[in-house]
Amino acid sequence: MPVSVDSSALKTATLEVIKAAAGVIDITKANILVLAGGGIGSRENLSLVQELAEASRGSISCSRSVADIGWLTSEYQVGISANYVTSNIYIACGISGASQHVTAMRDSGLIIAVNKDANAPILWVAHYGIVSDLFEVVPALIKKAREQ
Ligand SMILES: Cc1cc2nc3c(=O)[nH]c(=O)nc-3n(C[C@H](O)[C@H](O)[C@H](O)COP(=O)(O)OP(=O)(O)OC[C@H]3O[C@@H](n4cnc5c(N)ncnc54)[C@H](O)[C@@H]3O)c2cc1C
Repeated sequence: MPVSVDSSALKTATLEVIKAAAGVIDITKANILVLAGGGIGSRENLSLVQELAEASRGSISCSRSVADIGWLTSEYQVGISANYVTSNIYIACGISGASQHVTAMRDSGLIIAVNKDANAPILWVAHYGIVSDLFEVVPALIKKAREQ
């Protein structure tokens, strides 16, 4: 139905539209996403997730934990406050699966999650859940992806 809203009554406004920096990949168009979550523990460990992204010909992305701390910019963040994604393959490394994250990725094709906590909510939406330490699993996935 037609809606008429008095703009003076709006409590939100677009202040600025920030263009993605040159070279940044549009994760909403990626076929394969490999995500780093808070479970990676440090910026240095991002390279492990990046390696898996490259080996599987995908793009790196992240949860808000990683973007907020500045290890990746928000262009790479999946979630209600950043990007909604529907990649064919989505691989979460150390992501808990908070609702603000899951809402924006649950329509992905094949969801694979690595988490050492068997009760992590990401495992409820994952097609394949690997309950283990990502620092053991991710190198094995990199090896397998390279073999393929
Ligand atoms: C209004 C609002 C908007 C939000 N928007 C977003 C959003 O857009 N995107 C988003 O992602 N979040 C968003 N959040 C934040 C969200 O609620 C979570 O805090 C965030 O998603 C947590 O990120 P994480 O799961 O990566 O990190 P953590 O909560 O730190 O979870 C880390 C996970 O890694 C696992 N882990 C730890 N070490 C290992 C290991 N060695 N091997 C395997 N697993 C391990 C842990 O078991 C845990 O499950 C929003 C919150 C609010 C309130």
